[in-house]
Amino acid sequence: MDVLVIGAGVSGLTTGICLAEAGLSVTIRTAARPERTTSVAAGAIWGLVRVGPPDRVLEWGRTGLDALSKLAAEPGTGVRMVSGKEVARTPVEPYSWAELLPGLRPCEEPELPGGFAAGWHYTAPVATMPVYLGYLRTRFEQAGGTLEVSPAGSLAELAGAAPVVVNCSGVAARDLVPDPAVVPVRGQVVLAANPGIEEFFISRDEEPPWIVYMFPHGDTVLLGGTNEEGNWDQDPKADIAERIVAGCAAIDPRLREAAVLGHRVGLRPCRPEVRLESEPFDGGVLWHNYGHGGAGISLSWGCAAQIAAAVCG
Ligand SMILES: Cc1cc2nc3c(=O)[nH]c(=O)nc-3n(C[C@H](O)[C@H](O)[C@H](O)COP(=O)(O)OP(=O)(O)OC[C@H]3O[C@@H](n4cnc5c(N)ncnc54)[C@H](O)[C@@H]3O)c2cc1C
Repeated sequence: MDVLVIGAGVSGLTTGICLAEAGLSVTIRTAARPERTTSVAAGAIWGLVRVGPPDRVLEWGRTGLDALSKLAAEPGTGVRMVSGKEVARTPVEPYSWAELLPGLRPCEEPELPGGFAAGWHYTAPVATMPVYLGYLRTRFEQAGGTLEVSPAGSLAELAGAAPVVVNCSGVAARDLVPDPAVVPVRGQVVLAANPGIEEFFISRDEEPPWIVYMFPHGDTVLLGGTNEEGNWDQDPKADIAERIVAGCAAIDPRLREAAVLGHRVGLRPCRPEVRLESEPFDGGVLWHNYGHGGAGISLSWGCAAQIAAAVCG
């Protein structure tokens, strides 16, 4: 084995793919299967929110936008280009990174829901995460990679396991490293039958811990959500789900009658800055790739490419 990757969320799988497709022998070791990670709870649209530092994030994000846009053109990846709007009740500017997205323009007055003062319309890659994670796993295995479900008790126990170890443990890095700068930001979402919604909707008016958004995924629509800092609880809460549906139905009344199909909770691995760096490790090297906050899907290809370039020279 040339490389041992810890974690099979979007960061671990994408890193595994970049290294395996470069010709290395890669094993991913994970505590939970991809479909039981934080990554599966994401919306998941390309965007650079709740993450830093801005300059490196922009670079990784550019690579991610390019990679995800290409995947959107391939069948079976779970990624599509979706149009929609981001709106606010008070006049605010679009995020600077939104300029990278195709079709960015201010909303016309009739496009704004009642009570909203400003908004932008754009197109971005959106991943249906259960499908996308399945695609990533298959692509990793087709490149010769092996995935084992087996939690690592500590980083120290991995010394000597492979010349290169990559730590993609998400929010668990807080205890595993240990790194007290990692904080969970709990996000609960509701999966509902899609009553005909074709465009995404994101409100910029956060009322912590609440934020209103919806992402269509064909027959289903993902409704959000929460940003609960410091909360480790991974069980969905019925009262939170009800409030999420009510918040989205206030924007699109068709959701009042929509059947609720499921609930998901993820713990965003927030950190003031993404940790992407290496350190010596028992004669080999240990890479850290965690702390992607609310943008892990968007940054995954950029971060993985940087590690693959360094490891492969
Ligand atoms: C509700 C919600 C909406 C979001 N929306 C978006 C969005 O629209 N766009 C976007 O880009 N991002 C979004 N995010 C953020 C994104 O989901 C995360 O940044 C990303 O999933 C982090 O991926 P990860 O692979 O680093 O961590 P995780 O997905 O948490 O994976 C960590 C992996 O490490 C493994 N692991 C942990 N400890 C150990 C151990 N001791 N031994 C072995 N394995 C271990 C776990 O089992 C898991 O496989 C959202 C998040 C949430 C919760």
